[in-house]
Amino acid sequence: MSVPPQPQHGKLLIVSGPSGVGKGTLLKRVFAESSLPLVLSVSATTRKPRTGETDGVHYHFITSGDFENKRCRGDFLECFEVFGTGTWYGTLRKEVETALAAGRWVVLEIDVKGAKAVKEQFPDAVMLFVKPKNIEVLKERLAGRGTETKEAMWQRLSVALDELRHADEFEHQIVNDDLDAAVGQFIDILKQRKDNN
Ligand code: 5GP
Repeated sequence: MSVPPQPQHGKLLIVSGPSGVGKGTLLKRVFAESSLPLVLSVSATTRKPRTGETDGVHYHFITSGDFENKRCRGDFLECFEVFGTGTWYGTLRKEVETALAAGRWVVLEIDVKGAKAVKEQFPDAVMLFVKPKNIEVLKERLAGRGTETKEAMWQRLSVALDELRHADEFEHQIVNDDLDAAVGQFIDILKQRKDNN
């Protein structure tokens, strides 16, 4: 049985965009430069940590069994097997609702399917899509990261192409070509949303 959303005082920001587009770098700068009470929701995943990733900071890294238990208990606002390769990602309901109740602006960095699922439950959520300048740039970034096998990289690229087709369904789109410009655009959108309330 799904739990109805709790009363919210903060704001929900959904940030999507293909893997490798630089959402992490962009968000890091926005967090550092915005004066709003932003907080990043830490998702759970069955993916193994990459070098430099910390449990509880970048993700809650959990086993498939734990993930399935949480899913059955209704602990996730949304969860998806993002790349169709058996790796699951999910937004923890409690994490989001606690932060919203505390008046925070909660940022979800999730895929397009997850974004749509959250928007259905929180119609006031602000949706932002981060786009690359072009596909070549995305390919280079994914290959350059060197964190995935060749096969996984092609899988990510194919999902990325599919995600780009949904960009128009987001109310705000930001091209992450010049990082300073993208950060400025992101912060302007947040200011507008603040002033509109
Ligand atoms: P990565 O494995 O590179 O950390 O993340 C891959 C993709 O998974 C990202 O593009 C991100 O948008 C998506 N993702 C991360 N957390 C979640 C989540 O909780 N739910 C959904 N639906 N997607 C997520």
